[in-house]
Parts: sequence; C-alpha cells; structure tokens
Amino acid sequence: MTAAPPIERPVPAALTPESLAQAVATPSVIAQSERLKLTEIFLSVQGESSTVGWPTVFVRLTGCPLRCSYCDTAYAFHGGQWHEIPDIVATVKAFGVRHVCVTGGEPLAQKRCIVLLKALCDAGLEVSLETAGALDISEVDARVMRVVDLKTPDSKEQQRNRLENIALLTARDQVKFVVCSRSDYEWAKTMVSEHRLSDRCEVLFSPSYAQVAPRELAEWIIEDRLPVRFQLQLHKQLWGEEQGR
Ligand code: SF4
Repeated sequence: MTAAPPIERPVPAALTPESLAQAVATPSVIAQSERLKLTEIFLSVQGESSTVGWPTVFVRLTGCPLRCSYCDTAYAFHGGQWHEIPDIVATVKAFGVRHVCVTGGEPLAQKRCIVLLKALCDAGLEVSLETAGALDISEVDARVMRVVDLKTPDSKEQQRNRLENIALLTARDQVKFVVCSRSDYEWAKTMVSEHRLSDRCEVLFSPSYAQVAPRELAEWIIEDRLPVRFQLQLHKQLWGEEQGR
C-alpha cells in the first residue's frame, strides 16, 4: 500500500500574534471593539459529528463554567489572548479550507461568540459550534450546525443541562452524549426516548476516552437497536491527546 501524502499546512498551524498581524484584513461592518479571548486556532481534521473527517479550522475560545470529570481541554479554562473578530475571521480564511468549528472551553460563555459565528457564516464558511448545552443556544445564527452536549450523570455536570435547548434543535443540529459507564448509557437511552431526540435531530453517542471500551458501547447500541449514531473521536485515534490536534 502506498503511504498517504503528508497534509500540507498552507499557514502556520497555531495562532500567534505574528500570524494575526500578517493576516489579510477582511472588510467587515463589525466594530473593532468586538473582541474574543482565544486559546488557539489550528488546522486539523474534524474528529466528531456529521462532518467527521473534513479538514477543519478549530477556533478554541477561552473559558468554561463547567468542570466535567473527563474534560480534555482544561488548558482552555484560563489564559488566552484577546483578538478582534475581523482578525479571527481573516486568520480562519487564510487556512484555505471550507469548514470551521468554534469550540472551547464553552464558546457561548463569551457573549460575542454569537457575533463571531455570524461573521464566519457571512464569510462563506461551513460553520459548526460545539457547546456543552448549559447555555442558551437560541441566538446562534441559523446557518450554524450546533452540536449540543447533554451531560450525563458521570460527567458530574448533569445539573447544568439546559433542557430548554432541546426544543430549539433542528435537523441541522446534533445532540451528543459522552458515555462514561453502563449507568450513563441507560440514562442517555432514557433521555433519547423521553425527549424523542432522534425525531428532532441526529443523536451521537461517544465512549468517554479510556473509560468505556468503544466496542462495548457499540454492542449496547446494537443490542438495543438504539436510533443513535456511534462515534469515536477520530483525532484521538490519530494523535492521542496531543494539544492543537
Ligand atoms: S464543557 Fe467541555 S470544556 Fe467545559 S469542562 Fe466540560 S468537557 Fe471541559
């Protein structure tokens, strides 16, 4: 078998003050005072959701009000740097790919995330948002694909689920459960049934990394004929827990 060619990175893989300064300015009506605190911007492949596998720019916003037991992005809780929204859009566009994912931390914890999402859509990009589901999603631009978590009991943040968000989900969106145990699975199964989630949007079940064997979760789903989509975090298969991947 011939080895696949290496991925070419047309611009630096990480956002730096230098790369932002060099970014081509994008004409925008957004006021220069519209800023967001960012932990990183990088190019990778989308590891989850219905856009899995696409080359995607990830915009990781700083800060999160939750503390999930399995969190793998605690480095985004603090720190970060302020950047103007037009500069962020220009940096994303400079990577030269169609897909962009706004993530965190919890991106909606910064109110101007709503402005960024609209600006990225206006720039002609395919935009997705990864959110913990604890904050209101109603203001998110309708062009954005929203991937909304429902936190399970073993996440230790179940009480933060904003169940009002469920009524806002459309066929364009996805709801995601990260399953940490068999009891989490049973809870998630009940939520799918009680809220008729599969009638509303695609439902994703992921095994919590190193807590539930992927094969075990897949077999539970098959046994129950559950109308959900099993997924593995592709980026972790490729790069483990390496940051910026
Ligand atoms: S919501 Fe996401 S970023 Fe926040 S603690 Fe949970 S897993 Fe980590």
